[in-house]
Amino acid sequence: MGKVKKNEILGILDGYDKENITIATLGSHTSLHILKGAKEEGFRTAIVCEKGREIPYQRFDVADEYIMVDKFPDIVNGDVQEKLKSMNAIVVPHGSFVAYAGLDRVEDDFVVPMFGNRDILRWEAERDLERKLLVEGDVRIPYKYNDPSEIDRAVMVKFPGARGGRGYFVASSNEEFNEKIKIMKDRGWLEDKDVENAHIEEYVAGCNYCIHYFYSALNDEVEVMGMDSRYESSIDGFVRMPAKDQLDISMSPSYVVTGNHPAVIRESLLTQVFDIGDKLVESAKKLVSPGMNGPFCMQTLVNDDLEVICFEISARSDGGTNTFMGGSPYSHIKYGEPMSMGRRVAREIKTAIKEGGLEKIIT
Ligand code: AMP
Repeated sequence: MGKVKKNEILGILDGYDKENITIATLGSHTSLHILKGAKEEGFRTAIVCEKGREIPYQRFDVADEYIMVDKFPDIVNGDVQEKLKSMNAIVVPHGSFVAYAGLDRVEDDFVVPMFGNRDILRWEAERDLERKLLVEGDVRIPYKYNDPSEIDRAVMVKFPGARGGRGYFVASSNEEFNEKIKIMKDRGWLEDKDVENAHIEEYVAGCNYCIHYFYSALNDEVEVMGMDSRYESSIDGFVRMPAKDQLDISMSPSYVVTGNHPAVIRESLLTQVFDIGDKLVESAKKLVSPGMNGPFCMQTLVNDDLEVICFEISARSDGGTNTFMGGSPYSHIKYGEPMSMGRRVAREIKTAIKEGGLEKIIT
């Protein structure tokens, strides 16, 4: 557990003017709907923006205040933290915030109130911890191989860190594993130390659904907010070639996320969708008290036995939430008004300010 203690954060929150809260985030990833949603719920908004990256935020006009920094990681600098606190800011974390600020700094140095459970961010970022959450929750996950010599069917090979699928590959034997490692190293995508930490799992030949949930700690309820599937380079370009050409060119496709498609799942699978979401929330309560809090995502593949198999989770706003900035079919059913993930976060904060319970959702 990090050095930033909840009591310290609650002390800072105590000094805030609750009538004038600003919702802030780092300008990247899912900040457009986090800020737009905050405005829709009546908050002021602030963006910590890297110089040269301000265009989308200005053009979409989502921020009332700009805190300009030379580099994204500067969000943890003392002066930036002071500015945020002077605005009564609550920071909403997302994938880039965690990647650029760095987990250690978020846990040890970033003393600005944050929405969600600060301690769970490490659990989604480190593969062994992430796996523990899923195993404890009894969620169906891909079979894991302990050594490349055990490879006996198609496997997916992954590497540590948030690299958006870069360097991942498919192999079906130990020899192919070694060949592809060499290709990825020659491309400069892998280093020796990555190879030692290669994670090898069953290749699930299924359809991809990334399910975006919101866990309301105020209502103790798991909501399904939307779903997407990933648009990945180069694999999605590669599969548009006729099979003969795929065989002719010796190309090893990769899985770099470049965008997302909105998706809906067969209605009969929604029971499983809610079941795995509930299970993850329960296991998080046991392993990383107080557990999930706000947005989380389960990235799944559905096979032809109609099993929903989860290969990855995020315990904060996931990139695929950008597919429903104006609401999704599911958030429409639940809310009947345009409800993005960002707006749902802001609404939770607003409810907590009005009815009490801010201490439950801020760390
Ligand atoms: P990730 O970085 O874990 O989100 O994975 C990147 C992409 O790799 C996913 O969006 C899937 O297309 C693919 N993928 C990951 N794990 C598996 C698996 N076990 N079987 C098949 N495809 C996978």
